[in-house]
Amino acid sequence: MVKKEKRSVDVTDVRNKNGRRKHFIDPDVIIIGSSSDEAEPDSSDMSDSDPVTAPLHNKRKIKSHADDDVPHDEPPPTKRKTKKGEVLLQTASKEDALEMAQEKNVYKPSINAVKYKSDVMNVIKKLRTQRNVTAAKGGKGVGVQNSRGRIPLKTKMLQGNAMLYDGLKEYLLTEQTRIEQGYPFRNTRKRYAAVLLGGDKRVTTDSSEKICSRCGATYSVGQTGRHTRMKECNYHYGKGVEQRVPGGVETRYSCCEAVMGSPGCQVFKLHVHDGVSLDGFVFTQPRPTIDTSCPGVYSLNCEKCYTTRGVELSRVTLVNSSMQILYDTFVRPANDVIDYNTRFSGISEKNVKEVNVSIKEVQKTLLNLIRADTILIGHSLDMDLCLLKLTHEVVVDTSVVFPHSLGPPHKLALNTLVADHLRKIVQDRASGHDTAEDALACMELMLWMIKEGGRVRRV
Ligand SMILES: [Zn+2]
Ligand SMILES: [Zn+2]
Repeated sequence: MVKKEKRSVDVTDVRNKNGRRKHFIDPDVIIIGSSSDEAEPDSSDMSDSDPVTAPLHNKRKIKSHADDDVPHDEPPPTKRKTKKGEVLLQTASKEDALEMAQEKNVYKPSINAVKYKSDVMNVIKKLRTQRNVTAAKGGKGVGVQNSRGRIPLKTKMLQGNAMLYDGLKEYLLTEQTRIEQGYPFRNTRKRYAAVLLGGDKRVTTDSSEKICSRCGATYSVGQTGRHTRMKECNYHYGKGVEQRVPGGVETRYSCCEAVMGSPGCQVFKLHVHDGVSLDGFVFTQPRPTIDTSCPGVYSLNCEKCYTTRGVELSRVTLVNSSMQILYDTFVRPANDVIDYNTRFSGISEKNVKEVNVSIKEVQKTLLNLIRADTILIGHSLDMDLCLLKLTHEVVVDTSVVFPHSLGPPHKLALNTLVADHLRKIVQDRASGHDTAEDALACMELMLWMIKEGGRVRRV
């Protein structure tokens, strides 16, 4: 009760110079009800709810009308119509306002009802994840948002799972598949260097001519990798999606639904390229022969940013088979950053500078944990290993375990696999990818595969 009264003051006491009430919320936003205690959706009815026809706050609407405990001295909700004809009730708490701003954030870039539905689901999931991680075994009550990118290695959680390790053996990539998929191999001719035996298309070259990985334009750089001319990059961040139309098929960008070939919907100050450097690599080491414990199973996910030398690591997350985050850190790139890729990574310059961890420190931490026979799980893990500058042979790749029906080089996206097999949605487009979510998703997919396949052998 006290809580509700306080919230009421929070809203009504904020007035502008003319004495008129200021609202925390945007007029385009629908606000219904006032109790944030009911803000988090009930996880049990998540899959059945339809966020388009049953918006986030329907439950609160019903509750607030039925709630006899609402104090009579609290001002009644103010109804008014927005431009879009939506009813606005303005007894909003700060928490509500923030949530609604989040919904607006989703609504604006959503180009159709299906995408809106997907984005709303993502936001709901994020709220649930914050609660779930706090309650996770071994958790210290630190929510994802507070701990994101700032979890030092939790050595107490390094228990092996021999049964899972054994069950995963049949999904390990063969050497040939690792070559074909572009996994880095140890360069025996050069110290601390790797080679890509399947072709070196992704390797940064010394050439001063670069091809922009976003728009395809050719541009020039100097010896330091810096652009010789400032030229804007006009690009689409989405992929081409084929759609049936009367008389045939047309391809439109998933970002803006513009027809393939139309001018980009995004502008960035410079072009970028996605070359990787094969220097500075480390290699996982064998365990001492007296160590007969389980070598461990971990899922790994990395995030990249664009620098003057191509792409570099900006965050890494490692999770164990109990779905606990063991290690999660932002990483300071070695070279000057051109773009933090925030749309996809959710990572900002501030994140990276605050944590200030170098890739060498990350490598050192991981080499103490990941031994030559440890199983690493990931989705297109080849890129993660290139970013980490780590060669490792014992890998399970969910993009190979769950192949595309058209066969290689086609791959299914991680969020498609999770939606298909786990009935969840990952990779929140509204605020970027999350390495912790993706690493957890890969581990969960393999646990599902082992369980569904009935392949776990009793030990
Ligand atoms: Zn676009
Ligand atoms: Zn470009």
